Amino acid sequence: MAIELLPPQLANQIAAGEVVERPASVVKELVENSLDAGATRVEIDIDKGGSKLIRIRDNGMGIAKDELALALSRHATSKVHSLDDLEAILSFGFRGEALASISSVSRLTLTSKTAEQSEAWQAYAEGSQMDVKVTPAAHPQGSTIEVVDLFFNTPARRRFLKSDKTEFTHIDEWLKRIAMARSDIHFALTHNGKLVRQYRPANTDIQTQQRLAQICGRAFAEQALRINCEHDGLSLSGYLQSPNDSVLTDTSFFYVNGRLVRDRLVNHAVKQAFAEHGIDHQPGYVLMLALDPHQVDVNVHPAKHEVRFHQSRYVHDFILQAIQSALVQMPELSFPECSE
Ligand code: ADP
Ligand code: MG
Repeated sequence: MAIELLPPQLANQIAAGEVVERPASVVKELVENSLDAGATRVEIDIDKGGSKLIRIRDNGMGIAKDELALALSRHATSKVHSLDDLEAILSFGFRGEALASISSVSRLTLTSKTAEQSEAWQAYAEGSQMDVKVTPAAHPQGSTIEVVDLFFNTPARRRFLKSDKTEFTHIDEWLKRIAMARSDIHFALTHNGKLVRQYRPANTDIQTQQRLAQICGRAFAEQALRINCEHDGLSLSGYLQSPNDSVLTDTSFFYVNGRLVRDRLVNHAVKQAFAEHGIDHQPGYVLMLALDPHQVDVNVHPAKHEVRFHQSRYVHDFILQAIQSALVQMPELSFPECSE
């Protein structure tokens, strides 16, 4: 058989297979783009679990008219320009693939206005069509991306969608996690025209506490231990479920430089610290690790759910010690071995 280059649209659809698993993955990619664009307010409208409509509206920096079509093409990004950039990445995006992938499996409209432009412009792209039409539109500064009929042209994927309710729950759960990390941002989420969540920006400690209670529950928020630890370029902040709070929780949110990741390292460290005090269940936590971006590789997985630490043992031990010292400082518990 002859070797042939894949047509670009087919290449996009194959890439979409990795990045766009379900409506929640579209929401993730689009909201991350809004945050990368410096938005302080992000509105998310969902119809029928996202299979009918996903609309994200932000007040970020917008996209210039002559870059609208480019933004929808594959490997087009404003976030990395060199390998050096990639090795020190702090933005969510860097692959330049999300918009191209999403538009290859949906009908996508991108409307945007930058601060410099006096008018807004709109680009429309649909499934297998490669030509993007750009027309004038009305929109304040920022962007709105509308994704209609997700997977309309990839029936195998569409069949894998669960009920609207389940798909919406995935969106809601993901948004909770990002809203926890970005308490400075106003998020609003509607489903079928009804406001379901509203996360107001938290600028004071009390407001941050309120957001924690809204997301992780009142009991968790009231009893949680504060973690705030810094050492040698590593910093860990957040909340740890109190050993006195025996309610089982599935709150295990871990962020690396603001990015939500799955990592067994943190679970292990938390468990180990608690085990040392004879507590054998897995406590809930919301932990944010910040470190030099050169010390972590985020380009491990297309959906960026995983990272690789250059010195993982060191990071693990740092997290372990941060948690150990929080447990020792707890006033309510007295551990005989720490009562010096
Ligand atoms: P990436 O985020 O990896 O750069 P995307 O395909 O998600 O790739 O987006 C392509 C480009 O489009 C981004 O680099 C950015 O310049 C622009 N862009 C996408 N969404 C927005 C948005 N909401 N506001 C401003 N610019 C955006
Ligand atoms: Mg992106």
